[in-house]
Amino acid sequence: MKTFSVVITDEIHQQLFAHLIREDEQEDLCFATYIPSSGLNRSTGILSQIILPEEDERNVHGNVGFLPHYFERVLKIAAERKEGIAFLHSHPSSGWQGMSDDDVVAETRMSPSVMGLTGLPLLGLTLGTDGAWSGRFWTKNENEKRRYSCNWCETVRVVGRKLSITYNDALLPAIFDSEKQLRTISAWGNKTQEDLSRLKIGIVGLGSVGSVVAEILARTGISNFTLIDFDAVEEKNLDRLTNVFKDDIGRAKVLAVTDGIRKSATAPKIKITTCEYSICEKPGYNTALDCDILFSCVDRPWPRQVLNFISYAHLIPVIDGGILVRTNKRNTNIIGADWKAQTVGYKRACLECLGQYKTENAVLEISGKLDDPDYIKGLDKSKFLDAHENVFAFSSHLASMEVLQMLTLFIAPSGVSDVGQQLYHFVLGSMDVDSNKECHENCFFQSVIGKGDFANVTVYGEHAVAVAARSLRSKEILSNIVNDVQHKKSIFLVIKKYFKSLLNR
Ligand SMILES: [Zn+2]
Ligand SMILES: [Zn+2]
Repeated sequence: MKTFSVVITDEIHQQLFAHLIREDEQEDLCFATYIPSSGLNRSTGILSQIILPEEDERNVHGNVGFLPHYFERVLKIAAERKEGIAFLHSHPSSGWQGMSDDDVVAETRMSPSVMGLTGLPLLGLTLGTDGAWSGRFWTKNENEKRRYSCNWCETVRVVGRKLSITYNDALLPAIFDSEKQLRTISAWGNKTQEDLSRLKIGIVGLGSVGSVVAEILARTGISNFTLIDFDAVEEKNLDRLTNVFKDDIGRAKVLAVTDGIRKSATAPKIKITTCEYSICEKPGYNTALDCDILFSCVDRPWPRQVLNFISYAHLIPVIDGGILVRTNKRNTNIIGADWKAQTVGYKRACLECLGQYKTENAVLEISGKLDDPDYIKGLDKSKFLDAHENVFAFSSHLASMEVLQMLTLFIAPSGVSDVGQQLYHFVLGSMDVDSNKECHENCFFQSVIGKGDFANVTVYGEHAVAVAARSLRSKEILSNIVNDVQHKKSIFLVIKKYFKSLLNR
């Protein structure tokens, strides 16, 4: 089912709050433009430009209302910017706000002209006195002239150094189990657990770090997971993947980890979306846009570049990590091991400026050269890819650091929502923290903040390695069937096994 959401930068939120929540406690209104961010199942509006009313453009006394020439000015600005229109007003109470009869009349009346002029549905937003937002999109009914339906958003997200979300309880109720989560809730209380329980968390890469992140979040009470990875379980993964076993060899990693989450989850009801694509392919990219927070558990430059882009253009915070193990020349002894965790996105330094990947290496990967044995023969692979040397204790420690970064971002314990980049040294047992990093002056990613679908850049494309991995899994299922038929197994058993393998790939 299609869902809806809104995302607002902390800066725009502050300006709107200052205008809409008045000292004389009267309601107020204004307009803004927005840019769409289209996920696979979620449509989000990203507020772009506030258009405050001028002196003679609205009446505040009594029921707040605007004059036609204000609306006309807004239509003109939105048309020039080629963006959607949001109508915002305040209510003198707190929490997620519903609509009065007058609100419904006002927004229904505006919907046809807004859709006609911008091609995008009107976005209605209401602000409560505690800073809580509520939102809805007025979409056109198919085959019905001038008839519009109100689609309530599930969430309105405000992204700054902290991520704050107002939830629509009717569409997205809190989901937790006070018995199973007794110790967790006693650490941070019911309200935090209610907010955490309905976060939409995406984990990109279900390897040594991603599978542990999934396990930690399942135990913590997260109920909504999106798992993105095109790869299958191999025997050499068994020393590091959590909840993945010998029987899983050959299965898609996302499906093996799904079984683990189902066993470990403490939330009474969970939803897991699996995506057997790379984040660098369109279906993987669009699936990621349905999430509130993304974990980057990948080890290559192209997926890091895509995630970096999403965190700025679509304002979805990304938590990233990487491990570097150094050995002697013959790989017989460890010299050092260090791992880093960082949160990137709006108001923070990006993955490229933090040195987590290089654009030229992403370009090499897109061209297929990083997977061409002839090309990389004799080259120092550590310059392109994260080290393959890894130990479960290292990756599980990093996974925990990444989840701690997420909790800091969302819960802001004692008001701290950003601890900066953390670098742990295995040899010394010490951690460096750098909270002053900023993007370089001409960083491209700072120029696409909140540009969503209108950023004019396509970061995904053909991903030969992912295509090959999926086709290999399909071929294995088929060859098993052929084998069974050749061995004259009963047709009923063959069909049964085929459907089972489809479900358990
Ligand atoms: Zn109202
Ligand atoms: Zn940057």
